[in-house]
Amino acid sequence: MSFNNLGLSAPILKAIEDQGYTEPSAIQAQAIPAILDGQDVMAAAQTGTGKTAGFTLPLLELLSKGEHAQNNQVRALVLTPTRELAAQVAESVKNYGQHLGLKSTVVFGGVKINPQMMALRRGADVLIATPGRMMDLYNQKAVRFDKLEILVLDEADRMLDMGFIHDIKKILAILPKKRQNLLFSATFSPDIRQLAKGLVNNPVEISVTPRNATAVSVEQWLHPVDKKRKTELLIKLISDGRWEQALVFSRTKHGANKITQLLEAAGIRASAIHGNKSQGARTRALSDFKGGRIRILVATDIAARGLDIEQLPHVVNFDLPDVAEDYVHRIGRTGRAGATGQAISLVAADELDLLRAIERLTQKLIERRYEDDFIPTHMLPDTTLDNRPIKKNNPKRSNSSGAPRQGNSPRPGNSPKQGNSQARQGNGPNSGNRRPADRGNAPAKADVTPGQGIRSKPLAPARRNRKPTNQA
Ligand code: AMP
Repeated sequence: MSFNNLGLSAPILKAIEDQGYTEPSAIQAQAIPAILDGQDVMAAAQTGTGKTAGFTLPLLELLSKGEHAQNNQVRALVLTPTRELAAQVAESVKNYGQHLGLKSTVVFGGVKINPQMMALRRGADVLIATPGRMMDLYNQKAVRFDKLEILVLDEADRMLDMGFIHDIKKILAILPKKRQNLLFSATFSPDIRQLAKGLVNNPVEISVTPRNATAVSVEQWLHPVDKKRKTELLIKLISDGRWEQALVFSRTKHGANKITQLLEAAGIRASAIHGNKSQGARTRALSDFKGGRIRILVATDIAARGLDIEQLPHVVNFDLPDVAEDYVHRIGRTGRAGATGQAISLVAADELDLLRAIERLTQKLIERRYEDDFIPTHMLPDTTLDNRPIKKNNPKRSNSSGAPRQGNSPRPGNSPKQGNSQARQGNGPNSGNRRPADRGNAPAKADVTPGQGIRSKPLAPARRNRKPTNQA
């Protein structure tokens, strides 16, 4: 399959060539013709599948044929859950549209609104926005939607998780009824289907990511280790393995800071990225990491979502995630675009239940490797594969009430008394709440497995039982 057969015109094909893409990914092969045909699309596709180009390329193609946006007008609106993702989509729009002469603008919260209002004055053929800031700008009359042709919801599941449902509903209410709708989501939970009901008309449904499968190109293993010695082991792995770069996941913001400090103290350049960091600090950390100026990026799950860091060789789970599905998302940060990656988990005895949940979800026992000097005092008990089906569960996970997700619910398997009598140590601090991203918190997502095999039938429903956690 070549890009030439998809109905895209020369300026876009040229931009694709400039990017070095030789053939469309599965999502692109399916989505591009449907979108060019003017149809609504519902696509289950995660970061790493090429989904952004999947909607951006045909969107630009369609826009290139019509009249350009006048003052304050927007012709295509792309809503994303996070600032990071908005910036990444905006960059794609720029790259893919570089030979077209269309105007694009990106707006998100956490930065001054005035420059965004100024930019919108000239109109935007494509506006990429986070929902909260979008509504603020609309309320200040900085934007008009009377000529809106296309709406894209990117990572719609995250938007619901982050409590953006009210803003989304408000935005839908101010858009013209006649428009093309494209809805992208990691999975289609009942909440997403509910949202879709009032959004898409007779959509083409596409799925390119098998649910909860881990990418085959990722080598996974775990090191049983005492909690107190995790940082020491991490430093050894980085040094002995001569790792150039790695993304390290910490369950908490405080933990991310602490790991970063200890790595720095050991002479390893590191930065933390989480919701307590200012937008500037996060952008700097990401660009330092991308530019190779730091070796290790330590992130919470929410902050790491949507970060487009290509071909990361190593991902480390410093703590196992509370929600087993996040393990799949985390390790999806490595082994992308056909490259082999390594996903390494440092597992203390009191994380046994979390480990069991991950192995049950992925239906795979994670290989254990022992480091000579780090044999744990508190042994991690053996696990066996639990292949009982996982019950469908839903209500708590998605916060469809629209209120930002909050709470300090207990984390499964973390109690020293639970599961393993040898586990005596707690799992670290537990602080902070989730707030919508464009009002001062970092989130976004990161998912796995550039998909094989397209299904165009309806997708499996509920994804997971995400409990409110204290990340970001
Ligand atoms: P996305 O899933 O949109 O986050 O894209 C993941 C990565 O794949 C991005 O870095 C894109 O630049 C890259 N990409 C998108 N489409 C293609 C393609 N057809 N061939 C190779 N790489 C691609």
